[in-house]
Amino acid sequence: MCNYAADPCPVWRVTRPKARKPHTCAACLAPIRVGEVHVRVGYLSDGRWGATRVHTTCDALARYIDLEVCGGDVYVLDGGVTMRERVCDHYHDAPELLRMWAAHLRERRRLEVTS
Ligand SMILES: [Zn+2]
Ligand SMILES: [Zn+2]
Repeated sequence: MCNYAADPCPVWRVTRPKARKPHTCAACLAPIRVGEVHVRVGYLSDGRWGATRVHTTCDALARYIDLEVCGGDVYVLDGGVTMRERVCDHYHDAPELLRMWAAHLRERRRLEVTS
């Protein structure tokens, strides 16, 4: 399995809030829209609270790649690599990733057009 620059924080909490303002997905770098339910990981690092936010589909993709394709026992949402790079690193082992990634991009594009 590959190890992305995972820097596990001792205190963290995962929630699925609705966005009250626009955010950027830490995995695919596309916008998280106002009102969109997304995955928020709040963490305590060096005595400061921070948060990483990703699309629910990016969360599912990260989980799939790290747990199923890589066989890890934890998955990383924001390891300094984009979801595009992760898909590129792994589609040889799991060609279905290309289909999942394409579906994600299509969905994001559809949301942008209907906004
Ligand atoms: Zn891997
Ligand atoms: Zn995303």
